[in-house]
Amino acid sequence: MDFQLTDEQLRWRDIARDFVEQVIRPDVLRRDRLPTAAERIPWDWIRAADELGLRTLGVSREFGGAEVDIMTMCIVGEELGVGDLGFAVIMDQCWKTAHLFKDAMTEEQQQRFIPPFVADSEATTAIGITEEDVGSDHQGYHDTPEIALHMSAERDGDDYVLNGTKRYISNGSMAKLYFIVARTDMTKNLSEGGAVFVIPHDTPGFRVGFFHEKSSQRLATNGTFHLENCRVPASNLLVGEGMLSELRSKYLPGSKAEAAATVLGVGRAAYEYALEYAKNRVQGGKPIIEHQAVALMLGRMAMLLDASRLQIWKAAWLADRHHSDARVHGLLAKVNASEVAFEVCRLSAEVLGGASIMYEHPVEKYMRDAASFLHSDGTNQICLLRAMRAIGSQDGTDLYGF
Ligand SMILES: Cc1cc2nc3c(=O)[nH]c(=O)nc-3n(C[C@H](O)[C@H](O)[C@H](O)COP(=O)(O)OP(=O)(O)OC[C@H]3O[C@@H](n4cnc5c(N)ncnc54)[C@H](O)[C@@H]3O)c2cc1C
Repeated sequence: MDFQLTDEQLRWRDIARDFVEQVIRPDVLRRDRLPTAAERIPWDWIRAADELGLRTLGVSREFGGAEVDIMTMCIVGEELGVGDLGFAVIMDQCWKTAHLFKDAMTEEQQQRFIPPFVADSEATTAIGITEEDVGSDHQGYHDTPEIALHMSAERDGDDYVLNGTKRYISNGSMAKLYFIVARTDMTKNLSEGGAVFVIPHDTPGFRVGFFHEKSSQRLATNGTFHLENCRVPASNLLVGEGMLSELRSKYLPGSKAEAAATVLGVGRAAYEYALEYAKNRVQGGKPIIEHQAVALMLGRMAMLLDASRLQIWKAAWLADRHHSDARVHGLLAKVNASEVAFEVCRLSAEVLGGASIMYEHPVEKYMRDAASFLHSDGTNQICLLRAMRAIGSQDGTDLYGF
């Protein structure tokens, strides 16, 4: 084992760290408290991140991206998560779909979809699966025809015609390019009768809906959108019937590790803030860090964060090598990181006392942000159930889910 980061990883880490210090931190609390989702979208930060290469971090070099590995995305994701979880998620959606650009697209699709994405400094991507009646059920723990994913894709000559509504989608209704799961056959299990389509936002029949207002990741949107007789050529099919499982098994491990790293960043931010606060806040005649009760809490925070980071890096390492254990470790790393971040935020609130809920301090924001990943990217219950099913199975697979 070698815990030394490569020069390239250190370079990207420092780029992201400087971006957080110089751009995000000075203005993030003001932006977080703006009243509407639309005005919170950080278009200027997205453009600035693009100039640094962060938006296209995962895109292949031949298309102008940095094509870094999953480990590096985790390192950068943690840094951005320290600055703002919502912004980290905006970027991470682009990185997640960069895996799809690379692993799932035909050459013709790559030529059609990647250059416009790279050229547009405000372009982001989104993955649309969740609907009103399907949340955990699309995570692959169950796989029956009764699963209520209603978005349909009907073949019509050389085209597909899609109808339905998605909700809760990260970058939804602000993204330029969508990866959308729809059913080509309602009578089959989702894994068999489901398919993924690539749909640009300006396709006729694609209608943006509303942004969910929410307490967490407030700079990122969770949007609804509607497909109304949305006609796309069959060449926009990313994976067809029966191929979802294979796509998901390639894609899941890295995606979970990246998600875990972003929320770990929130925990780190809370810890670092509490540490500085404890060094400076005097009660009982000395800085509160000198009271053992407070030092013990800070020590616990440091321990939890370090252990979670190592687990994420292991998951990323396995994912980069397409190791058969990568899925389980990705799931476990996501569950643990979100629970660690939540607990570290709670402890940091204990360290700050009354200050923890005051708007002069960022801790109340960290607590709100950390809560989101207990359910985002699959609820922790479902992620653990899937990990256990894989651990308990003969071949280490967990049905087919993300
Ligand atoms: C911040 C955020 C970002 C998101 N981004 C996206 C996105 O980009 N794209 C997208 O498609 N979706 C996205 N989602 C949706 C997300 O995938 C779902 O919210 C998640 O899968 C859970 O579904 P649900 O919210 O409908 O909860 P439910 O499925 O209704 O779950 C409610 C409770 O029941 C439990 N439960 C459900 N089924 C079972 C079961 N079979 N066994 C045991 N317990 C069960 C759950 O664990 C949970 O405790 C996002 C959600 C959030 C919060």
